[in-house]
Amino acid sequence: MSSHFYQPETVTCNGEKFKLFITKEQIDERMKQLGVQLNRDFEGKKPIFIGILNGAFIFLADIMRHVTIPCEVDFMKLSSYGDEKVSSGQVTELKHIDAKIEDRHVILVEDIVDTGLSMNYMVKRMHENNPASVSVCTLLHKKVATKYEVQLDYVGFEIPDAFVLGYGLDYAQEGRNLSQIYVLDKA
Ligand code: 5GP
Repeated sequence: MSSHFYQPETVTCNGEKFKLFITKEQIDERMKQLGVQLNRDFEGKKPIFIGILNGAFIFLADIMRHVTIPCEVDFMKLSSYGDEKVSSGQVTELKHIDAKIEDRHVILVEDIVDTGLSMNYMVKRMHENNPASVSVCTLLHKKVATKYEVQLDYVGFEIPDAFVLGYGLDYAQEGRNLSQIYVLDKA
């Protein structure tokens, strides 16, 4: 089936070349599967999805379309990468959630878990407010890059330790609008 999305094989972003890595079809299929799992696991629990801005905005929006159980949504904003391709090693909280999460089932929604620094921080931060449970749902996981322990409950795709772009993920704030996921072309 043809798509109305612009789906090039390669893209250039801020002077760097990226090649296609995960297609729109693969993403759509995985979103459906994750939706099924979430509906089953949180039936009767009215979870609150907390999207981590900016990167998770497209993933969260797409996955929500497959969640059919009653639920709520809120956002938190963190910054750890700055405009570079490697982590700064520090987490800065730019916006906290507005919702009260005491006794609630929280699902943290992240674009990518790289070293685990941000997610490790987020999970601890959530537990300060005595939620009923905290689960983690990430679109991408760079397993080999893990430095900080974090339990990932829902993972869209395991990927190698390479810099990726698109579907919410940026390079120096550009490229978030790409409908597929691209990887830095080192060739
Ligand atoms: P961590 O704290 O796990 O090291 O990194 C998490 C954050 O770093 C992600 O939310 C994302 O903003 C950024 N990040 C990590 N790897 C990549 C990548 O390959 N591409 C992009 N665009 N951002 C990344």
